[in-house]
Amino acid sequence: MKWKLKGIVGCVLALSLVGTGCAANKDAEARPLIIVSTYALEYVTTQLVGEQADVVALITPGVEPHDLELTSAQVQQIATADLVVYQAGFQAAVDLAVAQTSPDKVIDVVSAVELLASEEGADPHIWLDPVNMGHIAKAIAARLETVLPSSADIAVAEVVAAFERLDADYASGLRTCRIRTFVPSHAAFAYLAKRYELVQVPIAGLDPNIEPTLARIAQVHEIALEHGVTTIFYEAMVSDAVARALAADLKLAVDVLDPVEAYPKEGDYESVMRANLAALRRANGCE
Ligand SMILES: [Zn+2]
Repeated sequence: MKWKLKGIVGCVLALSLVGTGCAANKDAEARPLIIVSTYALEYVTTQLVGEQADVVALITPGVEPHDLELTSAQVQQIATADLVVYQAGFQAAVDLAVAQTSPDKVIDVVSAVELLASEEGADPHIWLDPVNMGHIAKAIAARLETVLPSSADIAVAEVVAAFERLDADYASGLRTCRIRTFVPSHAAFAYLAKRYELVQVPIAGLDPNIEPTLARIAQVHEIALEHGVTTIFYEAMVSDAVARALAADLKLAVDVLDPVEAYPKEGDYESVMRANLAALRRANGCE
């Protein structure tokens, strides 16, 4: 949108000032607009297209994506974008906007992966498995071919290879862990746990905004003791009070395990995932 808007504003100015056309803006206006719903989808789409399209995310820095709300301007963007890349079942506002505006070109990346179910329903945290990210990259790349000019260079091989390297590093990095159980702040890591044969014992459920019950906290306390857990993980975007209280009770360490839902404060998907791997290795005795 930022480019298109600039193009239109520039065009209006040029017309009113000198009465000429807007030839200078043609290139800018020709760049396809791709709307992405989450940070992970922005990351992978941007890696694929580089500067060949405008990739605009519906989430903004500092927003916890589970409770994303859309402005009417964003709904309009969804309706008029050249491509909408989203994940059904994660953000209700996006699902509703896609259903209401039914954009011509849309990809639901859930179609590229196998969803896991939890007691609360389908688990949306598919991006925390690098193998899933490789599948998602391929699916988006195939859709991009129908949107970008035929001359476009879509970096699918490089992007998939980077996710494969990340997966290989996770697999080797977590293979020897003495402790297989970890305690994250909310239930974001089921895909990661399944892929690398760990067991997540989350404090809160799928939605980090729903506070855990006292019974749940007591249960996590028990399991952490039983499995020799050394560290209680918290995350930047939600309150760390329960994690810190639990760690204090159990005399355990605290550390960050980032679900890569919001924009990272530093780095990007890959560097945050590598920091998560290092944190899991420290916590679980994987030397
Ligand atoms: Zn989450």
